This record gives sequence, C-alpha cells and structure tokens, in this order.
Amino acid sequence: MPRGIVPRQPARTGRQDKIRGTRPLSPAKLNQKSANRTNRAGVAGKAAAGREKKTGKVAKPAKRYNPTAPERVTEILKRLNDLYPDVTCALTHASAWELLVATILSAQSTDVNVNRVTPELFRKYPTVQAFAGLTPEQLEPDVRSTGFFRNKSKSVVGAAKKIVAAFGGQVPDDIDKLLTLPGVARKTANVVLGTWFKKAEGVVVDTHVHRISRRLELTKENEPQKIEQDLIKIIPRDRWILFSHQVIWHGRKLCFARKPNCLECPLENVCHAGDKTWSTVETHKEAKA
Ligand code: SF4
Repeated sequence: MPRGIVPRQPARTGRQDKIRGTRPLSPAKLNQKSANRTNRAGVAGKAAAGREKKTGKVAKPAKRYNPTAPERVTEILKRLNDLYPDVTCALTHASAWELLVATILSAQSTDVNVNRVTPELFRKYPTVQAFAGLTPEQLEPDVRSTGFFRNKSKSVVGAAKKIVAAFGGQVPDDIDKLLTLPGVARKTANVVLGTWFKKAEGVVVDTHVHRISRRLELTKENEPQKIEQDLIKIIPRDRWILFSHQVIWHGRKLCFARKPNCLECPLENVCHAGDKTWSTVETHKEAKA
C-alpha cells in the first residue's frame, strides 16, 4: 500500500459515518417515539387544565364567527334603526292600486323616475276600472320612460282586468291572491302588503336588499326567493317591513352597488364585505354583492 493512504477505520463510537438515523428502530424504540408524540399533544391540554385549577376559571372554547348569530343581527338592526328611524316606501301613491302600479313600473327603474310618471298617469286614469278598459298598447306611451314599457303595460292592464273581474275592483290583501295577478311576483306582493296593508308576509328583496344582505353576510344566496327565506329565518317578523325599507334607503344613501361609501357607514365595523372601499376589520372575499 502506498504511503499516506490509510484504510478506513470504524468510528471509535461504534457508529458508522452517514448512516446515523437510517438504521431501523427497534420495536421498543418505535413505541417510545409514538408515546412521546402523544405526550407532547397532551402537554398543552394539561397546562390549560392546570391553569383552570389554579384560577378556578374554566377556559371557554374559541368562538367561531357566525354572521347570522342573533347578537350580530340585532346589532345590525339597531344601527339601521338609528340611521333610518322612520323610512317608508319612496313611491308616491294614494291607494293600494296606485302602489301596485308604481311597484310594477319601478322594475329596472328608479323610484324618482316612476314618481315623475305616475301623477299624470293616475290623473288620466283615476280608477282600476279605467286601466282595465285599456289595451296595453294604449298605455305604452304613458309609461315609456320607465323602461321595459311593453311588458309593464301588459302587466298593469292585465292586473287591472283581473282585479275587476276576480276581486270586485279591490286589490286583494292576501299574498296568494296577489300572486295570481299578471306581473306580480313576491317582491311586488310584499311591497303592497307591507306598505299599504301593514301585513308582514315576507321580506321585500329588491336589488338593494339583495346586494346589502350579501355584503352583510345575512345570506349567501343569489336568488331573491332564497334570500327572502334566509332573511325570514333571522329577522324578527315585526321587523320584516321596516328592515326592507331601511336597507333600500341604505342602498340609495351609502351602500352603493359600485363604490359603497364605507368611510361614512355606521355599519362599517360589523361589515366584512369583500368589496368594501375602506375597512377597519378583516374582510371576507366571498361576502360581496
Ligand atoms: S361598510 Fe360599506 S359595504 Fe358595508 S354596509 Fe356599509 S357601505 Fe355597505
């Protein structure tokens, strides 16, 4: 053997280089390792138990965020009350029939726009019978500026004919009967029942209620009927009518579809909407209009 080259010797410790840790563990050592792991998990629990023993206080389990918890919903309702104490429907009307017509015309339009049209409309056709005597084509020019005027004319004239023929010329105060009228779905029926007859049969879900209920995480749904069902479950019945009016006003004043004015909104610190424009709390990306 040439000088300087020494054959590799076993380590003095008895262990060979680079194979430390790869040696299979004996069954006894394996058992020990798993016991250690279990012990570590139990240490935290034991420490908490120790603390409870010392202080006499039982640690509460961490609460999970529940957006529809009664206390949160109550807080939202309270703030809406403070903000809009006595709001009502913004559509100008003097009878259940006028409110029904105005609500049909308000679809895809603004209340301001409808209020521009209805005074002259009701002067020209003062009774439900007067509307029932028209053809949809005759009504079209009068409601043209509210948009979708062909469909709206058909609905108004159809509803008038049905009310005269089936309900003695009186708008029924019953949701099932209202829903038989042409052009009347739950939103319109709830507006008439809540605002005119003061009957809480449901919650009005228009575009504002739809958007804001989602932002406030009162619902995850997207269809008006399902949203209404969610709201009915968490809002006390005696608040159904006012809640809709308040949320509709909130949508007009602050919680706009695009760029809500979160900086000025008194609900800001209970709102986690993902599309807020300003926030002091964490936002939830799925909570949006
Ligand atoms: S904080 Fe913003 S998004 Fe939330 S309710 Fe108010 S205006 Fe709407």
